[in-house]
Amino acid sequence: MADDDGRRVALVSGGSRGIGRATVLRLAREGFDTSFCYRSEESAAREVVDLATGYGGRCLAVAADVTDGDAVRGWLAETESTLGPVEVAVTCAGITRDQPLVMMSDQEWDSVLSTNLTGVFEVCRAAAFAMMKRRRGSVVTLSSVAGVHGNASQTNYSASKAGIIGFSKALAKEVGRFGIRVNTVAPGLIDTDMIQAMPERSRKKLLDAVPLGRFGRAEEVADLIAYLASDRAAYVTASVFEIHGGITI
Ligand code: NDP
Repeated sequence: MADDDGRRVALVSGGSRGIGRATVLRLAREGFDTSFCYRSEESAAREVVDLATGYGGRCLAVAADVTDGDAVRGWLAETESTLGPVEVAVTCAGITRDQPLVMMSDQEWDSVLSTNLTGVFEVCRAAAFAMMKRRRGSVVTLSSVAGVHGNASQTNYSASKAGIIGFSKALAKEVGRFGIRVNTVAPGLIDTDMIQAMPERSRKKLLDAVPLGRFGRAEEVADLIAYLASDRAAYVTASVFEIHGGITI
């Protein structure tokens, strides 16, 4: 629902870096007012706000951990009171804690499942309720090729990302009659801090499996997200879109 100036409001979790950052900037460029949450990096968040407002809209950054339901509801309430009704929600917040299964600690399992899967539950539950009241909305969740195909040393991450696909398809069936669409983007290797944190040898090995011969750019993923968020995708829901340069894992 557009406000009086014809502007629309988009919510992005994990918008301070990487794909979330590129998504905030892309949506701001398309005329959205944007609100994003982040966990810790305040200076990175401030930079995104400066860049997004450079496109002429408003941008709000809120420190909110997606695993904390109260914090997520507070972020949504602050967004709606400051910017207006949320029409688009994109869940980008995510982490990795890679280990072969037999070496994986409870903490590595729990933190990935709670940030990646419970975090999506918290953001979508809050946003869907707000959208249902207005009978309009678009939700885009971020999965991964690891969630579609599985990836060695990432049982925790793959499980969380496969869970997001099931969650999103179920939610799409639940809220379609309220005019809300839910779609999932499953990227391959995208050049962000998440990939830079991998050992050089693992990155090189993974890159060898990409027929297009390079990492993807966060902006290329944001482009797909912006399409799914927009009315150009008005008949697209309950779908998973892979964007991975042909990678086979
Ligand atoms: P980055 O590590 O570059 O950025 C992650 C973002 O999420 C940061 O803004 C970070 O904020 C935020 N974040 C992390 N944990 C929380 C939390 N608990 N609460 C709130 N915000 C949080 O990740 P990418 O951009 O690479 O990844 C974005 C999404 O895309 C993730 O879900 C990831 O799994 C998925 N993806 C990424 C791929 C890739 O190759 N890069 C491939 C496939 C999927 P802060 O800095 O404050 O911690």
